[in-house]
Amino acid sequence: MVKNIRNVIIAIDGHSSCGKSTVAKQLAEKLDFIYVDSGAMYRAVTYYCLQNNIISQNRINHQLLIQELEMINIEFIKDQSLDKYLTILNGEIIEEEIRKIKVSEFVSQVSKIREVREKMVNLQREVAKNNSIVMDGRDIGTIVFPNADLKIFMTADTKIRAERRYKELLNKGHKISLEEVERNITERDEIDQSREISPLKKADDAIVLDNSFLNHEEQLSWALKKVSEILANN
Ligand code: C5P
Repeated sequence: MVKNIRNVIIAIDGHSSCGKSTVAKQLAEKLDFIYVDSGAMYRAVTYYCLQNNIISQNRINHQLLIQELEMINIEFIKDQSLDKYLTILNGEIIEEEIRKIKVSEFVSQVSKIREVREKMVNLQREVAKNNSIVMDGRDIGTIVFPNADLKIFMTADTKIRAERRYKELLNKGHKISLEEVERNITERDEIDQSREISPLKKADDAIVLDNSFLNHEEQLSWALKKVSEILANN
């Protein structure tokens, strides 16, 4: 356990389905920090759009979404028995729903909208006010916390990422093919990297972690070593 006297921010960005949340959760647990899944916030907004006809016939009604943004309330609670964080949208647990392919298909389009990003970024900064945190996403080290204590940029081979995510979804009972998973990952990366506002990119001072051939223990010890180095120098 690393001792610190001030709030510490660890930002983990990177490509879709490369295990950011696994590393982030591992680190948060070891360090006794709060884990924040910023992707879950964008997924929650997308789920809201699907439930409220803001997305219909494969189109997003931008104007309606912007109008209804203030009605979207996102929180996280820690389920002690399952030892995991659950995403809550307007009082309803939606952790399972937001992982479904329907949400994954639209989330990168929803995430391009300036007003959506502004609201999510404010929320993310709010959480960090009184806590040491590990937050994963796409723009955490570049936009949300440009002064983060440690920035990690994660990536892995696309085929390996697709296979990992495919197995994870199958285990959870989702009906999906490997091809669909790979297509979705590739599409989201393209949209996330090419969008005008806060595109996915490595911050200049981020350290790259390619976990194509690392197991969970190896990636955790790599990350813990980086945390110790950073905190020792501060
Ligand atoms: O992390 P996850 O894969 O769940 O994120 C889902 C989507 O949310 C991403 O593909 C991206 O479009 C969006 N996102 C974002 N900025 C973040 C986190 C996620 O635009 N900080």
